[in-house]
Amino acid sequence: MSHRISDHLTRARECYDRRLGRYLANSSYLRKQADPDVIDMAFGDPHGYPAEGLVALLQDRLVPKSEDWFAYVRNHPPAQERIAKMLAAELCMPFVPADIALTNGAFAGLTVCLRSVCNPGDEVIYLNPSWFYYEPIISSLGVVARAVDVIPDIWGLDLSAIEAAITPATAAIVINTPNNPTGVIYPAAQLAELGALLTAAAERRGQPIYLICDEAYRRIVFDGRECPSPAQFYPFAFLVHTYTKTLLMPGERIGYIALPPTMPDRPAMREAVAVAQLMTGWAFPNNSLAFALDELDQFAVPLGPIQRRRDLLAAGMRAAGYTASPSQGTFYMLAKTPTPDDWIHTKLLEEHGVLAMPGSVLGAPGFIRLSLTISDVTLAEALRRIAAAYAVPDGAGGPQAGNVECAR
Ligand code: PMP
Repeated sequence: MSHRISDHLTRARECYDRRLGRYLANSSYLRKQADPDVIDMAFGDPHGYPAEGLVALLQDRLVPKSEDWFAYVRNHPPAQERIAKMLAAELCMPFVPADIALTNGAFAGLTVCLRSVCNPGDEVIYLNPSWFYYEPIISSLGVVARAVDVIPDIWGLDLSAIEAAITPATAAIVINTPNNPTGVIYPAAQLAELGALLTAAAERRGQPIYLICDEAYRRIVFDGRECPSPAQFYPFAFLVHTYTKTLLMPGERIGYIALPPTMPDRPAMREAVAVAQLMTGWAFPNNSLAFALDELDQFAVPLGPIQRRRDLLAAGMRAAGYTASPSQGTFYMLAKTPTPDDWIHTKLLEEHGVLAMPGSVLGAPGFIRLSLTISDVTLAEALRRIAAAYAVPDGAGGPQAGNVECAR
């Protein structure tokens, strides 16, 4: 007798298989990632030891200071207070502690928001290119995921395309800024237009369309930029953040969902979020992380070295024949391949000991995504290998389609 797998999960699996699953199944990533001679630029994982002070802090918060130290804790008031205060100062909006829900990262934060406002059969819009998990997460809830392309190459919001994609079934829109993978921070003026568009659509329907703002990278911004939040421009919004990027520590899970003070009837939504956290399988952080939150900010990864690597990478990729413009934020940079097949290009780089992600996995065919979290020394070596991969001996070779057998 065969197993009976949930239909929603099967659909989520299909979406996953078309994206990340296809990359992992058909590249040698899983085989090569642990090879010390291979440089992994496919994912934004840490490539060095965490700060000693951070380790000491986490160790300390694991040592019980009361009998109930390891009890069920949902929200830790000092952490909520700190986040509300910080957001209030940053976004000039009076966030209140009760509207901060601590989560175990943005994966859970996004799922909780979707679960709070969507019914099976609803539609959720997400912007393409995008993080490869949006479509599977949305589908796993029995909700239809609708992709809307941003403007190619400059990666700005295409407001008329968003407007055209809204139907009576649209429950929410997921927006990610700074954006993985494009590296773009959406400017305040664009977000204000989006807010106006959604307000008008909600008024026509007599029902809100929620804006789920994935701000996982809101602290990873370059050149002294600010990152406006879409929640500043539209009241039916959730601000979803995670500390795993800020601390470069994706295996230790803590983040939050913030309801903006402009959201009407917040007590009802606070309750919905709390229930969704329980029903998502206790989507709260471990106590030790929640108890450490007050002091975590001081261990935020320094942005200077990442920005410097971004510049080196952009210049190096251009020298190797790609088109690359420096990201405004995030741990990633997209580079446009000289010929259109990004699967071929990643295969070629793989053969030269560099793992990169094909843009197709992220809805950006013709690009590859490279991570900025490797060390300076490793980046220099990666650029040497990338240049060697594209050296054209005797007028032959180079990144021509068909040069390299494409494993898919
Ligand atoms: N959103 C985006 C855009 C991401 O890139 C990621 C992780 N790479 C997440 C959400 C999930 O973050 P976390 O692992 O901290 O839950």
